[in-house]
Parts: sequence; C-alpha cells; structure tokens
Amino acid sequence: MPTESNFNSLFAFENMESNVRSYSRSFPVVFRKAVGALLEDEKGSIYIDFLSGAGVLNYGHNDPDLLNGAVHYLKSNGIVHGLDMATPAKREFMEHFHAIILRPRGLTYKFQFPGPTGANAVEAALKLARKATGRYNVISFTNGFHGVSLGALAVTGNRYYRDAAGLPPAGTVFMPYDAYFGAGMDTSEYLNKMLSDTSSGVDLPAAVILETVQGEGGINSASKDWLQSVERLCRKSGILLIIDDIQAGCGRTGSFFSFDFAGLSPDIVVLSKSLSGVGLPLSLLLLKPELDVWQPGEHNGTFRGNNLALVTATAALKKYWTDEKLSRAVVEMGRLMSKRLRQIVEGSHSLSMRGRGMMLGLDCSTGKLAEKIVRKAFEGGLVVERCGAEDQVIKLLPPLTIDEETLERGLDILDMSVHEASKLPS
Ligand code: PLP
Repeated sequence: MPTESNFNSLFAFENMESNVRSYSRSFPVVFRKAVGALLEDEKGSIYIDFLSGAGVLNYGHNDPDLLNGAVHYLKSNGIVHGLDMATPAKREFMEHFHAIILRPRGLTYKFQFPGPTGANAVEAALKLARKATGRYNVISFTNGFHGVSLGALAVTGNRYYRDAAGLPPAGTVFMPYDAYFGAGMDTSEYLNKMLSDTSSGVDLPAAVILETVQGEGGINSASKDWLQSVERLCRKSGILLIIDDIQAGCGRTGSFFSFDFAGLSPDIVVLSKSLSGVGLPLSLLLLKPELDVWQPGEHNGTFRGNNLALVTATAALKKYWTDEKLSRAVVEMGRLMSKRLRQIVEGSHSLSMRGRGMMLGLDCSTGKLAEKIVRKAFEGGLVVERCGAEDQVIKLLPPLTIDEETLERGLDILDMSVHEASKLPS
C-alpha cells in the first residue's frame, strides 16, 4: 500500500509492468482521482486534462449523472455480463440511439456490438465488408490509424506500429489522404483514376476506410468536398464506405458524427472511445441493413455490448444529445482554442495549427520540439499528448464539457511551455 513517502512512486510500474507501457512514461506520476477536466495525482497535485483518455472522455471524468445511472444499475442487480443475450440495457441503448441520433438524420442502421475496443470494431467492419462484397482489398489512407490488432493494423499507416506486427499486414492499398501533397492537388481525383483504370494494379476494393479527422495520424482533417468526392466514387464503383469515427465522433468536432458536416451516409460507421460516456469500454458498428450478411455467431467475442457501458452510454445520449447545447459549446470552445493557437504560432517558422471543432493540433515540425513542449506543459500542470508520423504534433483534446476558465488556463500553460521549450538547447 502506498504511504505518503512513496506517493507517486513508479517502482511497481517500472519493475512489474511490461516495457510496452507508454503513457506512464510521458506522465510519470500516479493519478488517483479525476473530475471533469481535472486529474489529481497521489501527492494532491492537480493537472488540466487535454488528453481525455485519447478521446474517451469527451464528457469529462466521472460525470455524476452518468455514474449515478451506473451505480443504480449495479445496486439493482442489473445484468452486468450477458454475452450478447437480450437485456433491457441493450434495448434501451438501441432505442435511444435510434431516436436521438439516427432518426433525426434520416439514417437507418443495424447495430452490431463487437468486443469492447476500437480495434475490435474495425476488425468486424473490415471482415463484414469483405464478406458482403466477396472482395478482399481495402483502401486506407496515408497516416490513417485504426488500431493495432492485425486486421486493423493492416489499414494503419504508422511504421512504428506496423513494424511490431511480426508478419506483413495484408489486404490493403494506401492512397494519399486529403492534402497529402499540399492544397494544390485533389487526391480524390488520383483515387478515382486508380480505381477506374483496370490496369492501375489496384484490385477493386471491398471498402474504403477513413477518419474524417485523423487523430493519431497528426490531426489532418479532410475537407467536405474531398469527403463527398470519395463517397461519390465509392457509390459509382460499388465500394463500401467505412467511416472510423472512434476518435473524431461522439461530438468531438461539434456534431455527434464527424461526417455530419459533409452529409455523408456511410455504409458502416465505427464508434468506440467516448460512446459509453465515462470511459467504460464499448464499441459499436452501425451497418446498413442490406449489409447484414452475418450468420448467427459468425463473428463473436465474450465481451460484446457490455451492459454497464450501455447504461452509461444511454445516459450520455439523454444528457448531451437531445438538444444543441453541447454542439454549440464545442463550436464556441473550438473557436476560442483556435484563436489562442493562432496567437501561439504567429510569427513562428516551426509552428502551425490545424484541426476541427475541439480536435486541434499544434504542429511543431519536429518530434523533439513537441516533446520538450509537452514535458514543460506537464511540469506546469497540463496533460497533453503527441501524434503524427514523427510525434511532431501536439494533440489538444480537452473534454467537450470543460469550462472556459479551465480551458484558458490550460492554453496559458501550453503557451508558456512553447516559449520555455523554444529557449532550451536543441
Ligand atoms: N480508430 C481510431 C480512429 C482510433 O483513434 C483508435 C485509437 O486511438 C482506434 C481505431 C483503435 O481503438 P482501440 O485503441 O480502442 O483499439
């Protein structure tokens, strides 16, 4: 048991946990509590959270309304584990999701609950697309990140993760994401040409999978025109469009789905991360009814549709998505963040900013500079992580529910850290 003298000691983690651990290296304290946008370590130091569990905590830590529902459910002996047996928790979730999210958008989907992680859902989406079309090839995009299990890794671009696979990730062709070659070139034209030329060497794919804002890949956001153009060419060639909304969805860019602004109607949507609202693992596939070619139990898993997570997910839908309040706050806070970031990068040759809604990135040109800034920020009481091919982009993902004062304080720390890190020897 920790005593005051070894509070924040990383001894157990450094000696007992696998070398694979990562976040406890970036933030070398022991976190014991969290509320809203604030984390507290064992010594009582408070940190502002701009990491939000890598996009899991869009509604902040331990939202009391969502937790109360979970506590009540547990106390009433509600089914916690039921494989994929029918439960009131799952029924309520599907009915509310349909009424609150799908029906107002005119979208019709069936629900598939795979294992609880994002990668589980991506695996299921790829497998279903291949089964439904009878084709194997999948188009993914440069800098795309879709998880690290083997199927998901095959559509993930990052070299570091791909090298860890132990065998060649197969069945994918990578195409340039929007603005990969800069603003002057429309990469959807290139994709169109490669797919329409029967001698391009690219086999007709089962599906195209993409993030509308690439999170781990460096906060690269696709334009409305590009997304619509990709959707059109999918329709033209009978290719399924899979939107991976695991990180950009659940309100991160303003509306519930990150593709709402482009009016897309994807064949499959993948959700996870903030879906449960409190950090409980839950993932979901939304699939067009005609794609539901699964045989019963053909794709399974022990932990599908965790009931406790479904209870909190339903509570999150009821609390945050029955009106426009949260969406409006995201737009407003996103503007504030963008304004501050523009001030930070102003006049700098090495810094630039990008992103959409409250999913913003500060590109520092090099991983080294980004690392120094992030380290300084942590010393100043701000938890924020890096992304991009070289970890050169600082990814700002504060909870969507953060109050303006805390957001400004976090941005002040970031601003100060940029100045201090720039003074350090490289
Ligand atoms: N897809 C996207 C867009 C992600 O950002 C992530 C994780 O960061 C995943 C898939 C994989 O999710 P998980 O880590 O839960 O397997």
